[in-house]
Order: sequence, then structure tokens, then C-alpha cells
Amino acid sequence: MAAPIAGKTVVVVGGSRGIGAEFVRQFAAKGNRVIATARTPAQAAKELEGTKVELTQLDVTSPQSVEQWAAEVQKLAPHIDLLINNAGVYSRRVGFSDVTHDDMLAAFTTNAIGPLMVVQQLHKRGVLGGARPTLVANVTSKVGSIDDNKSGGGYAYRASKTALNIINKSLSIDLAGDNITCTLLHPGYVRTDMTGGAGLIDKEESVRGMIGVLESGVELQGTFHDFAGKDIPW
Ligand code: NDP
Repeated sequence: MAAPIAGKTVVVVGGSRGIGAEFVRQFAAKGNRVIATARTPAQAAKELEGTKVELTQLDVTSPQSVEQWAAEVQKLAPHIDLLINNAGVYSRRVGFSDVTHDDMLAAFTTNAIGPLMVVQQLHKRGVLGGARPTLVANVTSKVGSIDDNKSGGGYAYRASKTALNIINKSLSIDLAGDNITCTLLHPGYVRTDMTGGAGLIDKEESVRGMIGVLESGVELQGTFHDFAGKDIPW
């Protein structure tokens, strides 16, 4: 999409708060039809008050939830132009000695397996690609870059995002023939609930930047960019 994203059907997974909610706001403001997911839609409705958005219920860790949700999306929209796969969790226990089996599982289930199942089930429902292109943007993190890891630790979160990165690579190969582009975006270090309010930038700047990357015309198939358009090494 080397053009402004407007008048499109955009789905934001994990659109209830933080970066995801900001994607919803900015895409709605640009005149797109936005379908967003939340685990608790009533709560998301409060966060997104005043924004034109269709809220759907989804927990990406539940295969049944993903299947039911994909069926609901198919009823709402025959074609999705852009899917922002943004839902994610961070593990507070980051170190070698304190990370647990459950931390690893939770991070992988939400951050890597969830996004894959979302794409698989939507594809099964025929709402991605085909006669019209679809762009899938998986929201990852630079800390999943092996090259960028200079400080160690972060076992659960880092490994789950590295897994998401290789999943995106395979998707970009497997789905290219179906007119589907799969890309990775790193939002920057953003002040949200996930970071406990710490960070270098606000969500507005992060999301403006990431939308700019998607609109810029740079190669997106199987690539990994940050919010400023910088290529992230693997
Ligand atoms: P938040 O914690 O503020 O928001 C997380 C979002 O993910 C919420 O919408 C949440 O929904 C959703 N979510 C979590 N678990 C599930 C689930 N099981 N099923 C469906 N939705 C779920 O995080 P951020 O906005 O900061 O992060 C958004 C994305 O950006 C994540 O993928 C994160 O890893 C990535 N990222 C963030 C960075 C940062 O500095 N903030 C840096 C690098 C990457 P609910 O409201 O229902 O909990």
C-alpha cells in the first residue's frame, strides 16, 4: 500500500487499550472502517468512547475463541484490507533464575501462537487476500531480534517475539501467492500499561510512525521495520 490508508476495512487485534487502541483511533480518524477486538468489549467501549469502531470479543489464547471470532468477522466483512495483529503480553519475571515454565507458555501462547491462529482462521474464512490485497502487520518487538540482544535476560518475552518473527517470515512466503503481505513492526519503547508508563515515546507518535511505514511504499513482505522506518536486523 504505497498510499494513504483510507476508506479501507481495518481489523485491530488487541484494540482495547495502549498501542492497539491508538491504532483504532488513528485509522478511524483517517476514514477507515475499523473492527477491533477486546477480551472485555464493554471496557474497551469506555476507552474508545467517541471513536467509530465495531468491537468484537476475542481471546487469542483460546482456539475456540479465535474460530468463533473469525466466523463473526466473515459475517461483518467479506474482505479485510489491513490486519494489525497487536495483542501481546509481557512477562515481569525476566531473569534466568526466576523465569518459570508458565511464563514461557503464557508469552508464547499470546505473542506467537495467537497471532498465527488469527491469520490462519481468517484465511480459512476467505477474508484475506484473493482478488484484493491484504496487508498483515504483526506487532513484534526489537527485543526479539537476536542481533539486538546485548543484555541477555527477557527469556519469555524475547523468545516469544523471536518466534513471532519467524512465523511472520513463513507467512510471508506461504501467503504471498494469495495476494497477502506479512510484515513486522516494532513500535519503539512506548509509554503504555505494558511498560508501567515508562518509555521513550507516546503511543500517538509510535502509531503515527508505524502507519507511516505501512503507507510509505517500502518493501513490506517479510520485512522488519521500527516505527521510524528503520530496518531492524534479525
Ligand atoms: P498493553 O498491555 O497496553 O495492551 C496489550 C493489548 O493486548 C490489550 O489490548 C490487551 O487486551 C491485548 N491482549 C493481551 N492478551 C490478550 C489475549 N489473550 N487475547 C486478546 N488480546 C489480548 O500493551 P502495548 O499497547 O504496550 O503493546 C501492544 C503490542 O506492542 C504488544 O504486542 C507488545 O508486545 C508490543 N510492543 C510494545 C512495546 C512498548 O514499549 N509498549 C515495545 C515493543 C513491542 P485486554 O485489554 O483485553 O487485556
